[in-house]
Amino acid sequence: MSNSKTIPNTNFPIEKIREDFPILSRKVNGKALIYFDSASTAHKPQVVIDAIDAFYKYQNSNIHRGVHTLSQQITIEYEKARSIVQEHLNAKHAREIIFTKGTTDSINLVASSFGRKFIFEGDEIIISCMEHHSNILPWQQLCKERGAVLKVIPISDEGELVMDEYKKLLSDKTRIVAVTHISNVLGTINPVKEIIDLAHEKNIPVLIDGAQSVPHSSVDVQELDCDFYCFSAHKIYGPTGVGVLYGKESLLKIMPPYQTGGGTIETVTFEKTVFADLPLKFEAGTPHISGGLGLGAALNYLNEIGLKEISLYEDELLKYATEALNKVQGVKIIGTALHKVAVISFVIERLHPFDIGTILDQLGIAVRTGHHCTQPLMQRFGVAGMVRVSFSFYNTKDEINIFIKGLEKTISMLK
Ligand code: PMP
Repeated sequence: MSNSKTIPNTNFPIEKIREDFPILSRKVNGKALIYFDSASTAHKPQVVIDAIDAFYKYQNSNIHRGVHTLSQQITIEYEKARSIVQEHLNAKHAREIIFTKGTTDSINLVASSFGRKFIFEGDEIIISCMEHHSNILPWQQLCKERGAVLKVIPISDEGELVMDEYKKLLSDKTRIVAVTHISNVLGTINPVKEIIDLAHEKNIPVLIDGAQSVPHSSVDVQELDCDFYCFSAHKIYGPTGVGVLYGKESLLKIMPPYQTGGGTIETVTFEKTVFADLPLKFEAGTPHISGGLGLGAALNYLNEIGLKEISLYEDELLKYATEALNKVQGVKIIGTALHKVAVISFVIERLHPFDIGTILDQLGIAVRTGHHCTQPLMQRFGVAGMVRVSFSFYNTKDEINIFIKGLEKTISMLK
């Protein structure tokens, strides 16, 4: 994942991999699709589509509720998906894996449940300047409700966290630290292990927003010793509407339920409810069953290719595209951290990101434009928006060449 020493990886089976993704063969505006927006959502390989399809065709039933065969079989399959996630993150127990709607939902779960139990007037919560709105708003709202204070770790011009400032922010009043593992705009890989260790010296729990890291690297929650870790299935080649909250059992056990209802209980009377054990306490209602199965299939697919190979290949694309973009007149890359993933955001003086994105779209090239759900980060760099290209292991250097030519054409048209 780190790009400081990129090793050429010529053996990567790119042609075979591209065949795994049906959407990559479609045309957009009469041109072969070039999709550089995987940080927003990644495409789905056939194995994931097949897993979802098979559920509705042959396995459809509700989990955890029936004695009949279909229900029992699908419960086993759904719990297998949970075990795949557990192994992938190296969590100690499957019960520490909570299925949610995605990263946003996972963070809201912690802010709401942990917040209700542990955050009071005058307490402090630390986030960073490069957070996605999904890791700002739940904490901001919690602070408003509880009279707590939000503290923000600043970043350097290169887009790296200023760790000395972080150390100064940690105090006896800090109740939780919530930071992103990798920035969705700058691509910066944050030193999360150091962030966690520093917080733990003061017994402060840490939540890591892993939305952008799980697609690119292997994550070991026990090694990191994080207290919470969140990610979304759709960014790791799985379905939309499903994601994961990992939480240490010791914390999840003492946190109140986030939402309540069917599936969360042991017994109910009109006077009193006894909630179920983990993970069901946090999984109210019928879940996104096919989503869970699709997530399991996506993780199996990634592991078959190998995250190490994926990250080496993506690092090559990052290096290649960075060099090419730096040669395009007027382009200014925002986010030049030493350690980053294959996400590049840039601005071009006097040109509006939307205009750039619209013309590129006419050429079949999908890039992201705007504030990327990080308005405070845009304010930090004094811009209203940026253009972002984000690469996946299904992208190629040829596509980058076409993009660079398209960008040069776009600039000459707009200037
Ligand atoms: N955090 C980060 C760093 C992200 O990139 C995103 C998605 N762009 C989110 C949180 C929110 O993810 P989701 O919309 O899947 O809940």
